[in-house]
Amino acid sequence: NDVLVEVRDLKVHFPIKRGVLFDRTIGHVKAVDGVDLRIPRGQTYGLVGESGCGKSTLGRALLQLTTPTGGEVVFDGVELTTLPPARLRAMRRRMQMIFQDPMSSLDPRQNVESILTEGLQTHGIGGNRDERRAIIGEALDKVGLPRWALSRYPHEFSGGQRQRIGIARAVVLGPELIVADEPVSALDVSIQAQVVNLLDELQESLGLTYLVIAHDLAVVRHISDTVGVMYLGALVEEAPSDRLYTEPLHPYTRALMSAVPVPDPDVEDRRERILLAGDLPSPANPPAGCRFHTRCPWAQPTRCTDERPVLRDIGGSRVACHWAERIASGELRPHNAGA
Ligand code: SF4
Ligand code: MG
Repeated sequence: NDVLVEVRDLKVHFPIKRGVLFDRTIGHVKAVDGVDLRIPRGQTYGLVGESGCGKSTLGRALLQLTTPTGGEVVFDGVELTTLPPARLRAMRRRMQMIFQDPMSSLDPRQNVESILTEGLQTHGIGGNRDERRAIIGEALDKVGLPRWALSRYPHEFSGGQRQRIGIARAVVLGPELIVADEPVSALDVSIQAQVVNLLDELQESLGLTYLVIAHDLAVVRHISDTVGVMYLGALVEEAPSDRLYTEPLHPYTRALMSAVPVPDPDVEDRRERILLAGDLPSPANPPAGCRFHTRCPWAQPTRCTDERPVLRDIGGSRVACHWAERIASGELRPHNAGA
């Protein structure tokens, strides 16, 4: 496979400061703490996890919008974290981002033409206004917005249309990679499928590669080739999309799956119900051993509390759990089973 993006042992640790005068660093929030992943060209990688698990930070660090504190990001063979600023700026056109809430990511004082022109000017695309208008017109066609949209302002559009403007702003630059952070979670459910379908069509027609970040597992299921599940700054499982949903192996993935509502209310829901104990621990002070052990219904003394599991290959999935096989076979039962 032709890999467009490769992330190697990526870390983003934010210092925690205290003290008005001395600005002491008293610790670090390990938002992303050693992530490896690869995205083949033309494919979609879905990244899921609870809010605060580091998935948005990972997306921003991948685009160098947040500076990683460790590890590497290789885009089309070029390592970005050590790239001189001028070369990084040139790479930026090829990597674009779509945000969750188009209302806050689009400048309300700019009309659509000016929103879409900005990036073209930054990157020196299109020699004059007519050329730029032609390029912008094509982008509007691609996202299904009429030409009259050019003179209008963001507040004059519906939520779904505003997200189309956000998508147009990304595709107008002719990128290869798009990071979409919660692209539909601010939209009405009835509009979500339309926007997901649009992303799907654009991928097909423009050969785009996507990293789609979502807390909602249902959103990424159908557009992702591969799905990665994050917990406290690390990947706990990664698998081909179909496999992850039909055969989740990590206890955390199982718990997330068991919380997804059944699509058809007439079908009896016979899935296991997994309730997680406690709250998400602080990423400033993650539990030792397996980070999930404080909430895991299968946690075993003392290996789970002492030894951090690494991702290992189990039949085509990558899973970071010491006991994944014995949990899958039913040999180990959850502590709260039958309760
Ligand atoms: Fe649970 Fe232990 Fe597996 Fe971690 S390693 S997920 S605590 S069983
Ligand atoms: Mg987020």
